[in-house]
This record gives sequence, C-alpha cells and structure tokens, in this order.
Amino acid sequence: MPAFDQLIRDVPDFPKPGVVFKDIGPLLADPIGFASCITALVAPWRDVPVDAVCGIESRGFIFGSAMALAMQTGFVPLRKVGKLPPPTIGVDYDLEYGSARLEIGAQGLPAGARVLLIDDVLATGGTLDAGRRLLEQAGARVIGAGVVIEIDALAGRKRWPEAIPLRALLHC
Ligand code: 5GP
Repeated sequence: MPAFDQLIRDVPDFPKPGVVFKDIGPLLADPIGFASCITALVAPWRDVPVDAVCGIESRGFIFGSAMALAMQTGFVPLRKVGKLPPPTIGVDYDLEYGSARLEIGAQGLPAGARVLLIDDVLATGGTLDAGRRLLEQAGARVIGAGVVIEIDALAGRKRWPEAIPLRALLHC
C-alpha cells in the first residue's frame, strides 16, 4: 500500500450530514506523498501517446497539471461555468441536487487530440462523465482517465464506458 494512502483524511458530515468527505489536503502538503501520488497516476500511461492532460476544476487541476509536467504534455482545464472567456463549448450534467456545467475553451485542443482526463475523486461518476462528453464534443479523443480515489459504493464506474481505461489509485 503506498504511503499516500495514509494522507487522505475522512471528514464525516461534510459538506452535509451523512457524507464522509475525502480530504486530500494532507496528501498535497506532504512532499513525498504528493510526488509518489503523481508518479503513480502517470505510471499506467507511460507507453501511451498523450497530447494533453485535462483536469476538472478544481482539484483535478492540481493532479492534472503536475501530471502534464511529468509527462511533458500540455494541460487543458475543464472549468466550471462562467470562468473562461468566449468562445467556449460546454456540457450540462446533473448533481444530486440541481445541475452544473463544465466548459472548455473552443480553441483549447486540436481536433483528434489524444487526451487523458483527470480528477481527484470518482463518486457517483457524473462529473467525470461530463468531462468525457465535453472533450468528445470538443473533438478530442479521450484515451483514458485517472482519479486518486474511487468510492466504490457509489458505483460511478458504471457511468464510464468500459472501452476507455479508467485508473484509480485508491478504492474505498
Ligand atoms: P461525482 O460527480 O463523481 O459524484 O463527484 C466527483 C466530483 O465531486 C469530483 O470533482 C470531486 O472533486 C468531488 N467530490 C465528491 N466527493 C468528494 C470527496 O469525498 N472528496 C473530494 N476531495 N472531492 C469529492
């Protein structure tokens, strides 16, 4: 079991009663833990051609941009609504209560770019699925996805296409 496993804190009843929030703050603050996490996130894609790493706002930016540096690719942010200047492409997706929208700059990726999609946590899977749909709408090819933590009980993987590899470092 890698050391970074010990650096994720369970926070009961956050952000609302009944939810156990996975706090990655201690992992990011630990130089060895953070570095080993990035090494582990990058490892499955070592022999795969990747044009860009795409991270989902906001914690996906932290892991995705560090991966892009390690992989010597560009980094493209998938942002929450209203943060990017036009022109943008966006997708709407459902949350437990209400809905949300992810956007990408319309000129962010060349057509057919091979991209990796990164976020910190896979819970119900709606966010990662929206990121995939957005990238495909933007003309990119999602060749894989990575998360630090997959919450198995929420079955988010069921929303992800089986044909695209989805790697999780930790399962809980
Ligand atoms: P989903 O759409 O899979 O239900 O939720 C995943 C999104 O919500 C991710 O962008 C992630 O940052 C955030 N998220 C959901 N649960 C947690 C959690 O327990 N810890 C952290 N750090 N993020 C979470």
